Amino acid sequence: MSSVSASDKSKPYMPLAGGASDGCSNEDEATATCFCGAVQLKFPTQGPGLIDVFICNCTDCRKITASMFASNFIVPNTHLTHIRGRENLSTFSQSHTIATGNSMTNYFCRTCGTLMYRVSSGRPDASVLRLGTVDDFNLHETKLKPRVEQFVKDRVAWLHGAEGVKQVEGNHYARRPEKRDARL
Ligand SMILES: [Zn+2]
Ligand SMILES: [Zn+2]
Repeated sequence: MSSVSASDKSKPYMPLAGGASDGCSNEDEATATCFCGAVQLKFPTQGPGLIDVFICNCTDCRKITASMFASNFIVPNTHLTHIRGRENLSTFSQSHTIATGNSMTNYFCRTCGTLMYRVSSGRPDASVLRLGTVDDFNLHETKLKPRVEQFVKDRVAWLHGAEGVKQVEGNHYARRPEKRDARL
């Protein structure tokens, strides 16, 4: 049956989504593609190349996703491959709204506007990718299921916390200096 919820979770499920039709996913790696297909990335789906997967309800994430929250995952730059379209990425940075005072640089596809990843000046060696750009939709529910939901204090009242996901009132990463690996 062709639906996201009824898909066989034991193998990749790549429904018709956007302009690309060449994503891939295997035991260790998967692709993420922008809506028009011009930009494609490859990343590891487990540690050490996958640092964390999280949901963020902060006020910036509403604006930047044009939605109510963002779903992200963190990959060290050493483990991130630009398959195509790196030259098609535009950047926008600012530090005005970032509580830690760091500046966040956003990398967008200049053709379709999809935000592919963000990089913090506090952690320039890692990129924060977007779960929704991952081509194998089954990974959203399996290996890339979020582990943390942060800025719960800013979540809209008509949404409830993600099931089985650690709930954190504010910034999980900046508040826990002992978790250096995942700090943004
Ligand atoms: Zn695009
Ligand atoms: Zn956020």
